[in-house]
Amino acid sequence: MTDARLLIVGPQGSGKGTQGVRIARELGIPAVSTGDVFRAAVADGSELGQQVQSVIEAGDLVSDELTSAVVRDRLSQSDAEGGFLLDGYPRNISQVAHLDEFLEGRGETLDAVIELSVPRDESISRLSLRAREQGRTDDTEEVIANRLAIYERETAPILGVYHTRGIVDEIDGVGSLDEITDRILAALEARGLFGPAAA
Ligand code: ADP
Repeated sequence: MTDARLLIVGPQGSGKGTQGVRIARELGIPAVSTGDVFRAAVADGSELGQQVQSVIEAGDLVSDELTSAVVRDRLSQSDAEGGFLLDGYPRNISQVAHLDEFLEGRGETLDAVIELSVPRDESISRLSLRAREQGRTDDTEEVIANRLAIYERETAPILGVYHTRGIVDEIDGVGSLDEITDRILAALEARGLFGPAAA
């Protein structure tokens, strides 16, 4: 199997976490979600959790230094040697620079960036449903609005950087879970990162 180093990007409620896990499973690589790492740390009450709890609950971003250190640690584990799928990192231009530097030091680059697009109304209605079902503390209306604003201001611009590298695949994020997974896999296959050509 070809090594695949991937990033999935999309607004809150785009389904990137769900699709990230599915794609990582298909490719046999770990899915690394910074949001999941931070939430687990908060739930454990670890030192990291105590540092990030109030920031996450406000829907603000954890500092770039701390987030980048967490990601470097995670990507240094042996299961990420043959590839990984990042979800939620990098989330702004400065984190792109951190990641570039880290990967460069290992002689690696990102192979593809999956941009999951969903209309704003759709992502808001999915998030309010998740708030009711899962009771995530950062899924209140006010915090959701803050997270979406940060996405548009800070995260959307990173796609411009990756576009100039020619590695972005824009995927329509509206449809059934299976349909969307298939669209992503088809895009990865076209890049030789999945399917017979990657075997
Ligand atoms: P969502 O994308 O739905 O907001 P995530 O699960 O990706 O949720 O992230 C939850 C929270 O974790 C964010 O609101 C932020 O506080 C923190 N976080 C996650 N990734 C990063 C990152 N790369 N940089 C800074 N903070 C982050």
